[in-house]
Amino acid sequence: HAKHGTQHPYLFYCKEHTRLAQNRFKLDVQLRKAIKKQEFFLQFQPIFSLGKQQPVICNIEALIRWKTNKGEVVSPAEFIPYAEQSGLILPMGEWIIAEAFKHWAKLVKDSGHEVGLSINISPRQFRDHSLPLRIAGQLQRYHLPARLLTLEITESAVFEHEEQALETLKQFKAIGVRLSLDDFGVGNSSLFKLKHLPLDELKIDRAFMIDVPESSADSEIVSTIIKTAGILGLSVVVEGIETEAQLEFLRKIGCDCIQGFLLGRPMDIQGIPPLLVAAKTQTLSA
Ligand code: C2E
Ligand code: MG
Ligand code: MG
Ligand code: MG
Repeated sequence: HAKHGTQHPYLFYCKEHTRLAQNRFKLDVQLRKAIKKQEFFLQFQPIFSLGKQQPVICNIEALIRWKTNKGEVVSPAEFIPYAEQSGLILPMGEWIIAEAFKHWAKLVKDSGHEVGLSINISPRQFRDHSLPLRIAGQLQRYHLPARLLTLEITESAVFEHEEQALETLKQFKAIGVRLSLDDFGVGNSSLFKLKHLPLDELKIDRAFMIDVPESSADSEIVSTIIKTAGILGLSVVVEGIETEAQLEFLRKIGCDCIQGFLLGRPMDIQGIPPLLVAAKTQTLSA
């Protein structure tokens, strides 16, 4: 059998390659159908600020979900990378923005609470020249202040075409929206490189939090990133907070904001208003 494997490595490769190509083709067809059949929906995960005695909700992050006709819910981690590669992310992203704004505008209006919206923008969307104008148009349409909107972009969007990216970032700053660097720390950008970019926020990837606070090295790394971000004038959101101990640690070192299953999982928009009521009571009594 070992012989079999070494004899025709290219054959194996070709077969594997065809299988992958077929799967991709299938996914492409499925995704196009899903767009038409409106099988996508959004969930919203709260982000909490740690300034007060109790965490207070400040933003909601829109996260896409795909419910197939068989009723299974597919994670974006499985189809966003493909949609990005195939360009399908452009129509999909347009839908995400429109849908997120619709829910957000209603939430702000009904609750009278200035909660912010965070939207994930993929690298391909970020390079779409019409994006700044479309975002500005949505803000205008719903009379929402730009400072309440945060665009979460990734390192690859910023560093792969750096000069063009800087222009786009400046256009967004001119509109007044906040810019956040998502998944910080798992790619290859350094805090030093960020110094030159007009960013407002750093979202530290949850990979950093897994062994905090048990590992003193990891805890030290996180607090150093947060301190340095502060020096650079960036606010920080730490992702993936699942335990009280992690929350306590971050509160102690003066972290601005956190997000994670401990305080709120991604949920349907209906789950958000109760959190806003709690936030209001908290603000009044503090
Ligand atoms: P992300 O933007 O970094 O989103 C955070 C992911 O971590 C979400 O997964 C969220 O459900 C998960 N998460 C949050 N808190 C915790 C926690 O405490 N523990 C654990 N284990 N996980 C936590 P999700 O929704 O599966 O999204 C995965 C990625 O897919 C997102 O990462 C983002 O890069 C992408 N994505 C999701 N929705 C969109 C979208 O609307 N547009 C674009 N372009 N990308 C999206
Ligand atoms: Mg995000
Ligand atoms: Mg993230
Ligand atoms: Mg992430």
